[in-house]
Amino acid sequence: MRPFALLVLLLPALSLAQDGSVSGATSSAAAAGYSCDPTVCKLPACNCASTSPPGGLSPVIIIFPLRRPNSLLFPCSEVPMFIVYTADDAVQSYTLDSVNQFLAHRKNPNGCQPKMSYYVSLNYTNYTLVTDWYVAGNEIADHTMTHVGLPPNNEIDGNLIALNALAGIPLSAISGFRAPYLNFSNETLTHLAAAGFTYDTSATASIPVTANYTDAFWPYTLDYGLANNCLTNIGVCHGQPKLPGFWEVPMYALFDSRGQSGIHLMDPWLDSANGGTTVDDNATLAYMQSTFMAHYNGNRQPFGLYTHPIHTATTYPGVQVPLSTINMINAFLDWAQVQAGVWIVSTEQLLSWVQNPVPLSQLNSFEPLKCSTPQVNASICDGIPANEHGLLDLCAFSDFPFFTCYGCPVTEPTPDNPNPVQVTSNGQQPRERLPANCSTPWWDPIAGKCLCTGSSCQFQDNSRPIGPNGANLTGGGFGGNVSSPSASATFVPFNGNAAPIFPIGTWPAIMLGVFGVVCGLYTVQV
Ligand SMILES: [Zn+2]
Repeated sequence: MRPFALLVLLLPALSLAQDGSVSGATSSAAAAGYSCDPTVCKLPACNCASTSPPGGLSPVIIIFPLRRPNSLLFPCSEVPMFIVYTADDAVQSYTLDSVNQFLAHRKNPNGCQPKMSYYVSLNYTNYTLVTDWYVAGNEIADHTMTHVGLPPNNEIDGNLIALNALAGIPLSAISGFRAPYLNFSNETLTHLAAAGFTYDTSATASIPVTANYTDAFWPYTLDYGLANNCLTNIGVCHGQPKLPGFWEVPMYALFDSRGQSGIHLMDPWLDSANGGTTVDDNATLAYMQSTFMAHYNGNRQPFGLYTHPIHTATTYPGVQVPLSTINMINAFLDWAQVQAGVWIVSTEQLLSWVQNPVPLSQLNSFEPLKCSTPQVNASICDGIPANEHGLLDLCAFSDFPFFTCYGCPVTEPTPDNPNPVQVTSNGQQPRERLPANCSTPWWDPIAGKCLCTGSSCQFQDNSRPIGPNGANLTGGGFGGNVSSPSASATFVPFNGNAAPIFPIGTWPAIMLGVFGVVCGLYTVQV
């Protein structure tokens, strides 16, 4: 099969993925019926739903520069302004290229490239690209196997099992979930906690941060139930569901000039703004900026860019490239990064900070935000594209073919059978799946050995209660011994090492990051 034909097969399903729209407030104080005592519920294990930053940090501090106290007055915060960047649905080379055109050329104030969260559904996903994206430092999270709202448990658990078996993602690394169409219930959240997830991010913060009774809470644990989506979802709020230590990371809506009635959430660039009838990128940019500033000048609740990358793809055959929208999104990020204290992060990085909220002045040395690309030079099949040439297998299933380093299964993974036995026809040795004691970049699934055994790369994966009837499962093993499909095609990598296209804003962001640290060191509160 030619790669072009392979790509064209994928368009119909991906185009269906325009989930995540909202039409109004999804909660209210009365509907929430929420009560939590912050003197009892304390970090890092517990955090009340609150509009205030975690750890008692003050979002805005007025400082005077020490040498000339009356010459200049400006605000300086000890709370970082996080932009959470997420993508949903299938992973393909053109979806990763789409994300990269917004992030690959950027740096956070510590000099590291920003990371993001990919909520992966498996139909039409190219597994080896998931491996590559994970080893590059991004978060891989669960969006069900076949993209269903109110998902049955096996849609959630099967996603973990298949990503572990065929993409080599450690079970312990998949800590987050987003429901397709943001359609979840009490039972969804209860199952996520039981299956060992750390957080869900399907709920909506649907009231502007500047309004009374806003539901734009910082991420919080469900020790006292959910406080978002109380008007729209089943069996939540008024203390339900009680899931101690399990986190909700709200998705923060954007608002155009109409305020509450001009609400936008995912892919806001697909919406018309201000009651208009056509999409206007300038109008979108204006309300993205005004919403960002409302957060930035207030309690600094995170700002989210929740994307379906297919809509801004430039490398998908036959699809018109939305250059104006792409330039607008980059212009927004250029503008945002010039503000002091702005960091682009994945959801798990945000949550790491909320659990351990160090002041902005210490963020450059905060471990979860550090650069993380491993240095591996061996020619092995391990998620580092330069190492993998000629080692990938094509699993040529007729409806969604994919590549993997971990050996093709005899049938496509399904919720009922997420880890089918492995193909070993054509004289191929079975490949060993990621074991519990080796991390992905060091594992050679062909030789079945871990290249790094020193203390610097010690790793221990966890079992998860995701087997039939909740049995614990661990990574590793081979799969089966049955004959298989075979075919040839050219693997299309993502364009991860492309030269920067939009370098504007990078250096100002670094300089302001440095300034932010100085600001923190010499703060005088008044
Ligand atoms: Zn989706």
